[in-house]
Amino acid sequence: MDNIVIFGAPGSGKGTYSTALVKEFGYNHISTGDVLRAEIKAGTKLGKIVKGYIDQGQLIPDEHMIDILAGVYDSMLDGPGVIFDGFPRTIVQAKALKDMLQERGEKITITINLNVSEDVLMERLLRRAKIEGRADDNEETIKKRFKVYYNQTYPLIEWFKNEGVLSEFTFKGDTNLIIKEIIDKVASL
Ligand code: ATP
Ligand code: MG
Repeated sequence: MDNIVIFGAPGSGKGTYSTALVKEFGYNHISTGDVLRAEIKAGTKLGKIVKGYIDQGQLIPDEHMIDILAGVYDSMLDGPGVIFDGFPRTIVQAKALKDMLQERGEKITITINLNVSEDVLMERLLRRAKIEGRADDNEETIKKRFKVYYNQTYPLIEWFKNEGVLSEFTFKGDTNLIIKEIIDKVASL
């Protein structure tokens, strides 16, 4: 089974490229952001815990994320593979993912790192704010999310490199071009 991590800053297009891979290869898709937003919408106990963190642009504590992830992953073991979109976001989460996969005889196949400049990210997120109305897509919270990304998530790149799974993709103004590059890369695995 393929276990693909889509990695990048807020607004880097993790959702878009995940959707393209799902369409091409029939993978299952775990977007931790979508899972959390669904919990909030449904008014669950977990939803109440996570709302404050999301609205403040902060990460949800690792122990909650790790519990959620294993439950969702185990419902997807029959398919050709799983895309992890928005997880891991800390070194603790990365190690937990490695352990969880190992316990099931699996491992990370590849990490797709999306490099996008910060002004393009900000422009996209502000545009998305108008369309989707996400509570955390306002300029102040976006800046906090960038800071959280550089402090807590960016250091993972070194970790993925050491694991030998990192593959870099740089956005050069054309989304369809990167989609093709990523699909070609995954097809060659
Ligand atoms: P993108 O625009 O590329 O989809 P994003 O960072 O804007 O990325 P999500 O991945 O949807 O958006 O995450 C939204 C929020 O959900 C985060 O700011 C954080 O509060 C919470 N969250 C999502 N995944 C995690 C995680 N793995 N660990 C902790 N918190 C998370
Ligand atoms: Mg997303």
